[in-house]
Formats: sequence, C-alpha cells, structure tokens
Amino acid sequence: MTDTLLIACPHCHRKNRLPAARLSAQPQCGACKQSLFIGSPLSLNSTQFSKHSSADLPLVIDFWAAWCGPCQQFAPVFEQAAARIEPRARLIKIDTEAVPELAARFAIRSIPTLLILYQGKEIARLNGAVPPQEFERWLLSNLPVA
Ligand SMILES: [Zn+2]
Repeated sequence: MTDTLLIACPHCHRKNRLPAARLSAQPQCGACKQSLFIGSPLSLNSTQFSKHSSADLPLVIDFWAAWCGPCQQFAPVFEQAAARIEPRARLIKIDTEAVPELAARFAIRSIPTLLILYQGKEIARLNGAVPPQEFERWLLSNLPVA
C-alpha cells in the first residue's frame, strides 16, 4: 500500500493528498476545510463521480431509483454501513434515473445493484437488496485489504 492517498472531498469533490496514516484522524479538506469523511453515503452526479472514481479509495456503489421498493428497503442498510466502513472505502449512491450514463457504463440491468470499484476496475457485484448481515459479509470479503 502506498504512503499517500488521493482522497476526493465529499463536499467540494477536490482531491486531497493525504498520508495513509492520517486516514483515521478525522482529516479535513485542504480546499473547503470540511471533513473528508462524513459517515454517510454520497449522492453524486457524473462529474463528481469521476473525481471519486479516479481517487484512491475503493468505492462501494448503490445503483438505485426512487420508484424501486427494494431500493428503499435497502437504503438504511447502506446508510448505516457507511459509518462503519469509512475510511476504508467510500459509499456512493447513484440514482439511475438522474445519472443514466453511469448506469449504462456499468451495465446495470436491475436495481438495486451493488458494486465495488477499485483502481478503475469493478471487483465485485451483488444484485438485489440483501439483509444487513449478508451485505456486511459481502463487503468484508470483497473490499481490498487496507
Ligand atoms: Zn472540500
């Protein structure tokens, strides 16, 4: 693992260069001075997504839509996981209606679809809303070791 990481800010989406050792020390963004970790998933548009996907943290992405019942059920599971998983990974929600180009790029055929993206590559995918324990197991067995 490298000593410095590029971390995109959840507020202004600028990239910060951060020593890996400071990840857990509640780091702040050099540009907007807000927290780099907020314990919640980020809802991103396409431009913002490109900043986070070209930074160094693994991304766990929830592709969802407002009309999808299982997506609504799964939302609190995803929300709660964010606080536990940060700063090991960034949790991101992509509204497939608002950002159809990303749904197309990742060939999302059903929602919710959960996907882990690391160093520009998809490393895991899970279809459908799963119970919290199963989601946790999937995360822990697929996230890159920090
Ligand atoms: Zn910022």
